[in-house]
Amino acid sequence: MKLDGKIALVTGGSRGIGKAAVQALAREGAKVAFVYHSSAEAAEQIVKELAEQNCEAIAIQADVADKAAADAVVNQVIEKWEKIDILVNNAGIIRDGLLATMSSEDWQAVIDTNLTSVFNFCQAVTRPMMSKRYGRIINMSSVAAHFGNSGQSNYAASKGGIIGFTRCLATELAKRGITVNAVAPGFIETDMTVDVRNAAGDQIKKHIPARRLGLPDDIANAVLFFASNESSYVTGQTLAVDGGLTLGGI
Ligand code: NAP
Repeated sequence: MKLDGKIALVTGGSRGIGKAAVQALAREGAKVAFVYHSSAEAAEQIVKELAEQNCEAIAIQADVADKAAADAVVNQVIEKWEKIDILVNNAGIIRDGLLATMSSEDWQAVIDTNLTSVFNFCQAVTRPMMSKRYGRIINMSSVAAHFGNSGQSNYAASKGGIIGFTRCLATELAKRGITVNAVAPGFIETDMTVDVRNAAGDQIKKHIPARRLGLPDDIANAVLFFASNESSYVTGQTLAVDGGLTLGGI
């Protein structure tokens, strides 16, 4: 398997895209630690199901926006498995609303959970990865970084910030054998998009050249590529995985 002997840490692994990434990394042979916030039961179920497939995973409760908590998670994983080879910064939230009425709390919650968390976990793994001269960091952006979606100024700012952050960190770490890339999902069938999907129904598909919504596994496959040795000469890039949504045609 591609990731035998590798240790991976995934944030937001209890549901949706993060869950698919945890499962994909584990099935490729990595030992996987993942962070959840409130879905303890779902997290334990994932650990149990992976154990039944002879895959090793642990779930850790933490708020990714909390720097001390991020440090503690990274220390816990390194104490258990001695290193972290792969970091997937996936945890994210939406708090949509027009800017005119957006509360400071909704602005800050999205920036802290989606963007500051990336700083928190990247900084925590940087030294351990540098000492091993190996690392794969994958940050979850969004096509929302490029679109002008009304009501998503906080979310778009966080996801655009991730792209700039990814480029800069990639430059800093390239000579240490560490790659830093981002994935920008389009419309993916998860809890996060359930309201939009319920409201828009099949209309959404008309705007997607592939004429279907994405599945969490579509994103997990891109994560697997960036996590693998095969992507060792790719860094600082953002890969749109969106069925052609950002191409501009239909
Ligand atoms: P989701 O189904 O809503 O799952 C979000 C995950 O993030 C859950 O595991 C949740 O943990 C975790 N999380 C949220 N806040 C957290 C916090 N403060 N601390 C720790 N964990 C936290 O979302 P998703 O659709 O899979 O999205 C995953 C990522 O992809 C996000 O960054 C999102 O912005 C991005 N993305 C999604 C889409 C899409 O169409 N779905 C498109 C573009 C980008 P709990 O279960 O414990 O709450």
